[in-house]
Amino acid sequence: MQRYNRNILLIGDAGQTKLLNSRVLVCGCGGLGSTVIMNLAGLGIGTIGLVDDDVVEITNLNRQFIHKNIGEDKVISAKNRILEYNPEINVNAYKIRLDDNNYETIIKDYDLIVDCFDSYESKFLLNDIAVKTGKTLIHGGVSEFFGQVTVIKPSTPCLRCIFPDIDTKKDFPKGILSPAVSTIASIEAMEAVKQILNIGEPLENILLTYNALTNDFKKLKITKNTACKCYNHA
Ligand SMILES: [Zn+2]
Repeated sequence: MQRYNRNILLIGDAGQTKLLNSRVLVCGCGGLGSTVIMNLAGLGIGTIGLVDDDVVEITNLNRQFIHKNIGEDKVISAKNRILEYNPEINVNAYKIRLDDNNYETIIKDYDLIVDCFDSYESKFLLNDIAVKTGKTLIHGGVSEFFGQVTVIKPSTPCLRCIFPDIDTKKDFPKGILSPAVSTIASIEAMEAVKQILNIGEPLENILLTYNALTNDFKKLKITKNTACKCYNHA
């Protein structure tokens, strides 16, 4: 517990024990994933699951700090980095593309899901899985200089409630600067802690938006859309 002394001074032994007993699934081991994963490892989240089917490419290295070897599986690279940093953590690596056929066996073992995917298509698929399974999903996304975070639960609006008309096949703009990504990822990791410890004011029914150029953070009230597909899942 010495390792977690600075956590414990703030959240107590009971809080740290909750973190050590928690199981968090990180979907995507890229830019957002790099910062989320290292934060979860430092906090002492007892079990971290990693989902990604990509390999490391040289163009990832401006922001995906946990990776260094081109061509290595991202989940393996991330797992090795976590264990190098904090060997006390259990890490499960899933080198898969999450889909409707494989999510059930993976998701059921986790308390919380963190969205670190980098495409609308994957993010909305994950949204639908969270809605169907009733799991809490911490959503974060970054596009150019702009980012957003919200916490999705059965009682709160889902991504399709918020963005009913989005074309999920559309690609994100490719340009991205690491500090904007790390900022959003750090907020996602903090939201995960708040969920596990049941403290503070979580970003539920709120979309936090961030403009890296102006430093504007806005908390937008969001409501469920009764015409949303998520209602059909309920
Ligand atoms: Zn919805």
